[in-house]
Amino acid sequence: MYRGRFAPSPTGNLHAGSLVAALASYLDARSHKGHWLVRIEDIDGPRCIDGAANHILKQLSLCGLHTNDNVVFQSARSSLYQQSLDQLIAKGLAYPCACTRKEIEEQQAALGLSLERHKAAVYPGTCRDGLNGKPARAWRFNVAKWCLLRGSPVVDWHDRRLGPQSQNVSEEVGDFVLKRADGLWAYQLAVVVDDAAQGITHVVRGQDLTDNTARQILLQEALGLSRPQYLHTPLVLGVNGEKLSKQNGAQALDLSSPMAVWMAMQSAASALGLSPLPHPAEPHASLSEALTNWTQEWSQSNMASPLKIEA
Ligand SMILES: [Zn+2]
Repeated sequence: MYRGRFAPSPTGNLHAGSLVAALASYLDARSHKGHWLVRIEDIDGPRCIDGAANHILKQLSLCGLHTNDNVVFQSARSSLYQQSLDQLIAKGLAYPCACTRKEIEEQQAALGLSLERHKAAVYPGTCRDGLNGKPARAWRFNVAKWCLLRGSPVVDWHDRRLGPQSQNVSEEVGDFVLKRADGLWAYQLAVVVDDAAQGITHVVRGQDLTDNTARQILLQEALGLSRPQYLHTPLVLGVNGEKLSKQNGAQALDLSSPMAVWMAMQSAASALGLSPLPHPAEPHASLSEALTNWTQEWSQSNMASPLKIEA
């Protein structure tokens, strides 16, 4: 049984870009006659905005994107994440780290590694063999050790739109954080645990998240969880050519009238390469018809074509 999800962070309202990802995951679920779930990714409490989660749910409902199940909030699932961290610790695949961000940059410089602009530092594994009496700050996944056990440092995976992908997580990311120094759960662990707990078979999300997939696959393997199929949707660019995001002040979606909703949905559909539909006399009634048409079109498009099974 197909189970897909849309998983927004309530750090702001839906914008044109997140509506594209929502619509894609919804159409993919419907075209596979599956379930479409909504998960609010509110683990990063300090970055979440009061009321945003409810607003997002209202926006989805205005757009006719109705979930088949109860909405799940990550902030209520801490004990699940702890269980998985405990499993990794028991398997010797997670370890405490005492380094500050500044120390990691210094360790990198000492190793002669240059830090690319806008790129997170590759953690050089300083605390892998112990903390030398320093207090633990964060918990990290032992990528190097897991890659030895799985027999390859390279994660190969298939994206339904982008094709074959591959990443050497050890070299490009290093031992990544599972639980942060401020006590918050890291995105990678929470997503993997929740996708498994919710029985997600297909992940459809924005292309900006492509880069996280290899890390998530390593965690799935180490925790003995199955790997969903992945599809990363095209990004919507703003007038300045940059990806639309809450951070760069993407304009709020105008969903103030049935016609405004219709227009917003038309542009989301066209970003996915689906046919625009003529302006209806009754936009509200026509929205569900449009979703049915797009579902049909989606099932005939490449993105919904028979999926390759991972080796
Ligand atoms: Zn460290």
